[in-house]
Amino acid sequence: MNEFISREKRVCAANYDPVPIILSEAQGVWVKDTAGKRYLDMMSAYSAVSLGHGHPRILKTMMEQASKLAVISRAYYTPYLGAFIEKLVGLTGLDVALPMNTGAEAVETAIKASRRWGYRNRNIPANKAEIIVAAENFHGRTTTIIGFSSEEAYRDGFGPFDGGFRTVPFGNAEALEAAITPHTCAVLVEPIQGEAGIVVPPEGYLKQIREICNRHGILMILDEVQSGLGRTGRWFAFQHEGIKPDGLILGKALGGGVYPVSAFVATRDVMQVFNPGSHGSTFGGNPLAAAIGLESLRTIEDERLVERSAELGGYLADRLKSIRSNMIKDVRGKGLWIGVEVDPSGVSARQLCLDLAEEGILSKDTHETVLRFAPPLTISRDELDWGLERVERVFLRRTQAV
Ligand SMILES: *Cc1c(COP(=O)(O)O)cnc(C)c1O
Repeated sequence: MNEFISREKRVCAANYDPVPIILSEAQGVWVKDTAGKRYLDMMSAYSAVSLGHGHPRILKTMMEQASKLAVISRAYYTPYLGAFIEKLVGLTGLDVALPMNTGAEAVETAIKASRRWGYRNRNIPANKAEIIVAAENFHGRTTTIIGFSSEEAYRDGFGPFDGGFRTVPFGNAEALEAAITPHTCAVLVEPIQGEAGIVVPPEGYLKQIREICNRHGILMILDEVQSGLGRTGRWFAFQHEGIKPDGLILGKALGGGVYPVSAFVATRDVMQVFNPGSHGSTFGGNPLAAAIGLESLRTIEDERLVERSAELGGYLADRLKSIRSNMIKDVRGKGLWIGVEVDPSGVSARQLCLDLAEEGILSKDTHETVLRFAPPLTISRDELDWGLERVERVFLRRTQAV
């Protein structure tokens, strides 16, 4: 076995099962392994690298800010945080944001905000607040969050879980409304379920949730950690349905591919539940994070990456749909975020992933049957064609073999 792999296996916890290639360098949409082989990144670290690897604007900002002021804690004001948050809330159409680092922390922030808002606005008895969530969700890995996951692998042996969540099927607005009780404070869903296999709900689902939340006086919270910031061909997936949530969770691409930056963005009404001392994070909103976050948003805007995602995403979906293979059961997604579901009786998605790596394409299987294609939004049409040619080749070769 390769020395890097064996060392990692010896000293690192085995909570991942990586594809056996060893990546050591990257630039833009291209990644290189230690043997010098080149791969097209069609995974983008689950959207964290939506701007591509080592984007020159992000690197420049990062170097400059790191040498000026990087970490000081929120015990003081800085010139950097306000500029970042002002830009962020402006893009979302919401009012106020609370910066954190990882997606899971921003989800936790949304949960805290929703509960406290519920106690103060809905007269929910102490410690009885409930949040409605969707089955097959993915919101991160903290103990609270996995407590409402429906994936046994995420939960097994990590309880006790405190409750406070009600699970309904994803995409079914009637079931969601039926689950509302006098203790409900919020609904928390992904607009498109990423880790579940890029599952797109029926059209109008978000609009229906908006109406239900209005009717019952509860909060609509969307987790757009993966779907946000251009991935689906709009700045935010909720914009496809012309609605606005009360709270929005962002992360991944917000860090420009180099640093963890996340945020919970909300209306003033929701965010005012936080007072000094009620919540925080040592690194959240530090000057380096703020500078990188701001530059990421500006870059997405200046390079028209949202428009590019819509345009090239449609092209990517069309090309994948035109592959003549009875192995493919479904091609779905929005923007540059497409899942290809393969027939479980044939070659596994994991095996296809290995085949693709052999051809120089980085992809990732989810739930054994779905391959994800989510290249950096900076990808060019030529680069996409280069990748598609190889994806087609892999599918056709495997189809003929069976
Ligand atoms: C990745 C992800 C998270 C968790 O983000 P981390 O930075 O890994 O904590 C939360 N929600 C969604 C929808 C995600 O895709």
